[in-house]
Amino acid sequence: MDQPTIQDRVRTYSRPSDLKITDLRVTDIVGAPMRCCLLKIYTNQGIVGLGEVRDGASRTFALMLKSRILGENPCNVDKLFRRIKQFGWHARQGGGVSGIEVALWDLAGKAYGVPVYQMLGGKFRDRVRIYCDTDAGDRPTGRDMGRALKQRMAMGFTFLKMDLGMWQAIHEPGTLSMPTGELDKWRTYHSAGRRKVNTPEERAIRNRDYDFHNVMHPFTGVHLTEKGLDFLEQYIAEVRDEIGYEVPLAIDHLGHIALQDCIKLAKRIEKYNPAWLEDLVPWQFTDQYAQLSRATTVPICTGEDIYLKENFKPLLEAGGVSVIHPDVLSTGGILETKKIGDMAQDYGAAMAIHMAESPVAAMAAAHVATATENFLAQEFHSVDVPWWDDIAIGLAKPIVKDGFITVSDKPGLGIDDLNDEVLAAHIDPDLPGLWAPTDQWDNEFSWDRVWS
Ligand SMILES: [Mg+2]
Repeated sequence: MDQPTIQDRVRTYSRPSDLKITDLRVTDIVGAPMRCCLLKIYTNQGIVGLGEVRDGASRTFALMLKSRILGENPCNVDKLFRRIKQFGWHARQGGGVSGIEVALWDLAGKAYGVPVYQMLGGKFRDRVRIYCDTDAGDRPTGRDMGRALKQRMAMGFTFLKMDLGMWQAIHEPGTLSMPTGELDKWRTYHSAGRRKVNTPEERAIRNRDYDFHNVMHPFTGVHLTEKGLDFLEQYIAEVRDEIGYEVPLAIDHLGHIALQDCIKLAKRIEKYNPAWLEDLVPWQFTDQYAQLSRATTVPICTGEDIYLKENFKPLLEAGGVSVIHPDVLSTGGILETKKIGDMAQDYGAAMAIHMAESPVAAMAAAHVATATENFLAQEFHSVDVPWWDDIAIGLAKPIVKDGFITVSDKPGLGIDDLNDEVLAAHIDPDLPGLWAPTDQWDNEFSWDRVWS
């Protein structure tokens, strides 16, 4: 029997043209603060690519693509992306394609010894500005929220975000109008039933929760009353009173309210100088975004649920947004997000980046942010998760320091590996297993021809 050669035994990093994908495995963790599906793509040369499915999405979105990439050279990132892109769609459904694309870039970087930002064209900045999305406990007042945001500023954050909309007003009588009885349904089914179901009753609750969250904003019949507008104006006035007017303050989660209510609220709060208003109506309603942008001086923003560059284009062409807000794990991945940013720049729009996941997603986004000129700020949700930094091995800690991420010159995403001890301590109990075999996906097949 032939003795193994040195190249069989030693990780050389030097044969990228012979690199082949041999396996894809996943681990789901909870409490980061979202549920995160981390993924690894393994190769015949010992190097492993790290990726992640969009927060809260199913691992199946990635696993069903395994048979479509096995045996291929991961350095052919764009070719493989184009092969699998038909299996993505908007929001979480883009998570499998995007997560795999990120892992391919990590592998290409590790194979050639180059950081991802360099492969995208190099740096526009050394540090990536992070904006901090902030909660302030159950039913905070504007003043509570202002104090919570002030603590973020004391940590070095230079850009802030909070929620302002129907969820702030929902417990205050007389602030919302909607068909009688609907309010109770909203209170009952909001975020109910997102865990594993064991009984028909639990499944019924999950199904109602699903229905409830998929009614588009114009069809809920929810409107803000004059009292509701007063209440929300008072809330942001108290926030600004605490944090001052100089720090940018973005606003998210207005709730599933109609275009006309969004315009009313935007006009009311213009003088509090919001950095942007986010996801006011579904992104598909291009003309409604154009109406919004013309009706207020507050910058209008959307994009975290949009898959592919081609779906950002109508919004930009119509002048519907001043800020785009892609998530690297929904757009189709790193290269697609870079292309989206560059396209937005041509229309005079800035790019913020949505990010609510682990350090893998944070670094994927930070490499795009480093290499894209019109970048504004990248989101971060995990200030209050003490073990978040420890998920990744090989990054300078803390990963977010004084409100910025600094991207290193290490190959790929710059992460050596993931910390199995930390992952094991936070595995999703509904999806147990740490990098368990996925052989059952090796022969997943359909006739994937897109055209006849
Ligand atoms: Mg958002």
